[in-house]
Amino acid sequence: MKTSIDSRLIWLNGIIIPLQEAKINVLSPTSQFGANVFEGIRCYWNDERQQLYAFRLSDHYKRLKNSIKMFRMEDKYTTDELQQGLIDVVKANGYKEDLAVRQTVFIDGFGSWMSKGPTNMFIAPIPKGRTLGISELGMKCCISSWERISDRNISPKIKAGANYINSRMAQMEALENGYDSAIFLNDQGKVAEGPGSCLFIVRDNVLITPPLSASILESITRSTIIELAQKEFNIKVMEREIDRTELYLADEVFLCGSAMEVVPVLSIDKYKIAEERPGEITLNLRDKYLDIVRGKSEKYKEWIFPIYE
Ligand code: PMP
Repeated sequence: MKTSIDSRLIWLNGIIIPLQEAKINVLSPTSQFGANVFEGIRCYWNDERQQLYAFRLSDHYKRLKNSIKMFRMEDKYTTDELQQGLIDVVKANGYKEDLAVRQTVFIDGFGSWMSKGPTNMFIAPIPKGRTLGISELGMKCCISSWERISDRNISPKIKAGANYINSRMAQMEALENGYDSAIFLNDQGKVAEGPGSCLFIVRDNVLITPPLSASILESITRSTIIELAQKEFNIKVMEREIDRTELYLADEVFLCGSAMEVVPVLSIDKYKIAEERPGEITLNLRDKYLDIVRGKSEKYKEWIFPIYE
């Protein structure tokens, strides 16, 4: 297993090479200005079937293409090429474990922050366990003093490296102040999302999440959770604005995303959520999500893509 950094292989500009040999031009717009767009794609190992499943791969490539378009970058790769690169590099590494794959399309060359190209790409599969340690029940969060970027300045719908400076400000402040993570409000003062995740609350057995117009990423996990809540648990789902104080009064709160999966929020600004115990709806959704991504449910097999023949 090529888990140590020394033996990992990476896809860079069409060739698969040792990670240590993958070099980037320091003067490129991606290096100087964060001129890149990317996806974080999870692959889950199913031991029984000896198969590695990529989760909602075509949806990730749809979003990557949207980011490329909005960024006005040269659109060099077809969806098939984006997908084939991932398959090739995972197979080259021979991974038989859970992965987080970072697939980044970047502006290379010697241009400036306004260059459209040349675009290049790297695909880096990284072995990845769960976000929370076994003993951890969830996260303690604060409301960030930083506002979420909005569609009027840097759209959160573009999954660009540079957008994560906003996330970084919130996360670093939260850690500095003794919290695990932060929750952003948007430019309207309504709840938006976490630094790298979307947010759901439960009030009176209704699952509520901010709408896509609330300055959030069009999250694939968010749409998965909405579908599972309705189809699997018959839970009413509302996409509507959420006030800050509703967070404090919620019966359950959780964050979700490809990397984070589903993580209970135990307190916000030190207001306890359900006595700091993960809620039942949260745990049911998390367990169902983790079964589906690992290919344990026939019903959702259109969401999982087998890497190995
Ligand atoms: N919001 C932000 C800001 C994120 O970075 C992420 C992680 N990609 C998410 C939400 C969750 O998106 P997804 O479910 O597509 O991973």
